[in-house]
Amino acid sequence: MSKADKWDLSPLVNDTNTTWILKKFDEMIKISESISKKYKGKIKDFNGDELLEFLKEQEKFTLNYEGTVNYCQLLYSANSQDHIAKQLNEGVRNALTKVSQELAFTEIELGELLKNKPEIINYLKLEEYKHYLERIIRKIPYQLTEKEEKVIISKDRNGINAWSQLQGDWLTTRIFKIMIDGIEKTLNYGEVISLYQNKNRDLRKEANRIVYEKLGEDEILWSTAIRSVCSDHLTICELRRYKSPMTQSLIANDVDEATINSLMKIIEDSVKVYQRYLILKARIMGLPKLGNWDIVAPILNTIEKDYSWDESQRIIVEAYRNFDSEWGIWINEMYSQKHIDGEPRVGKQSGAFCSTWLSGKSAFILQTFNGKIGDVYTQAHELGHAVHAYLGTRNQTPLNYEIGSCIAECGSVFGELLLTDKLLSKAKTKEEKQIVLTTVLDEFGMAAFQVSARVWFEQSMYDLIKEGKFLDGSTVAKLWTHARDKIYGDVIEWLPEMQWEWTMKPHYYIPNYRFYNYPYVFAQLFVFSLYRLYKEQGIKFVPKMKKLLAAGSSKSPAVLAKEIGLDITTEEFWKKGILQAEEFVNQLENL
Ligand SMILES: [Zn+2]
Repeated sequence: MSKADKWDLSPLVNDTNTTWILKKFDEMIKISESISKKYKGKIKDFNGDELLEFLKEQEKFTLNYEGTVNYCQLLYSANSQDHIAKQLNEGVRNALTKVSQELAFTEIELGELLKNKPEIINYLKLEEYKHYLERIIRKIPYQLTEKEEKVIISKDRNGINAWSQLQGDWLTTRIFKIMIDGIEKTLNYGEVISLYQNKNRDLRKEANRIVYEKLGEDEILWSTAIRSVCSDHLTICELRRYKSPMTQSLIANDVDEATINSLMKIIEDSVKVYQRYLILKARIMGLPKLGNWDIVAPILNTIEKDYSWDESQRIIVEAYRNFDSEWGIWINEMYSQKHIDGEPRVGKQSGAFCSTWLSGKSAFILQTFNGKIGDVYTQAHELGHAVHAYLGTRNQTPLNYEIGSCIAECGSVFGELLLTDKLLSKAKTKEEKQIVLTTVLDEFGMAAFQVSARVWFEQSMYDLIKEGKFLDGSTVAKLWTHARDKIYGDVIEWLPEMQWEWTMKPHYYIPNYRFYNYPYVFAQLFVFSLYRLYKEQGIKFVPKMKKLLAAGSSKSPAVLAKEIGLDITTEEFWKKGILQAEEFVNQLENL
């Protein structure tokens, strides 16, 4: 079996010498100081030409240093135990803190300028930055005074932020005792939850049970935390005069409430499609009903096929090339230029990510490749982000390549569907096809449906607090199981301990960043709808998809969609995504 590649990060810097890199950071700090000297106190009075020059200078600054910043961060993520990587990571962190402190005034002053002269965004020479400026303008009505903003930041540091820290620390310091093959093992949280994917059904069930039993024992901690974070958010919403608890996140994601309402309505109306899949999966697994420990479990007890690195590369390049020859070339380049780090290694960050390289108009990918079908999917997913980066950096400047969560997953999820196409066409047996279809449907079910339950759950907490109700542990648990059951109906057997499922999701405890979830539902269903259109329109659809990804953040998701002939404020549009999922369920049923 061909070994997984290691990446070559050297193109990111002129010199990999540690002294050279640290000097480069000193220079970055000095330049930020000179930018501060040049512009501080002046931005709020700028005319159109001056604003343009300032934005260009900001972008030049980003492009000059992002390679070196990336180099240090990526080096550390791939090998956190390496002495030099540690030193450079410390260097980059310090430098970035200093630079962000030095340049913090720019956003405040830009806000002031746009508040006083909103008409400046219509200045013809600023056209390229119009939407970037519009996004800033959208935030202005909710900004407090500089003094108030500073008080909130410094109070939160040791106040409401501590709940999130506590939740994370609690999880990482727990130990769980579990019998594996007749031997009692002591596992940490990360190890025990990896058993959720184990082929042994009893072991999966027991792993779920002991984790949620332990979380439930400390329910008083979680309910106090979640109650405080949600109540704090409502207080901030009132201070800022947000229309609803979701307003802040709608602005951050560059979407409007009507769109998200249509999306959530379609999910609610389509739960039967997901339930039908879960019933079918139970039948394939030979079970009367799935337990909650089976929902995303592998279906077969036979030995799974292993993929070599070269095989994975060949399949993925072909999958993308079938869609567009240029995409095929770029994907191939990602492998041939060693931009992917797949080698399993101690000290390597878990999970996977794709990091955009703006000045190189490319990207770097980190994953741990063990040859499982899930690893091939992850690789295709991250390479979809890379395609997005190739298109975006070729067509947009850095300020127009700050992509919000709703659009950020478009290239990646689309890439997974291209891979699904390829794998299905190659599959020889019924079992191989079942594995591909359940892989794609398991993920769709989680990202579109299970995640929607989390949106309803969060909404219901704000509603209850507003009514003056007290959120104790059992009340929060009832809100969660109610939202969950709206999705799953009675097709799943739940362990009673699963009422504490909400306690372990870190994002529920992050203050000032609420409604973390719906962009995932948006992206999943959006891409399924796009893929459906591709199946309907064939080659005619290709330039539309490329246009969408090439636009970066220069336009809102609604405008981007409109330009390729889609109206995302309508339920009809979102229904296309459900139809595509239904098509996959039909294929699975007809095997
Ligand atoms: Zn992704």
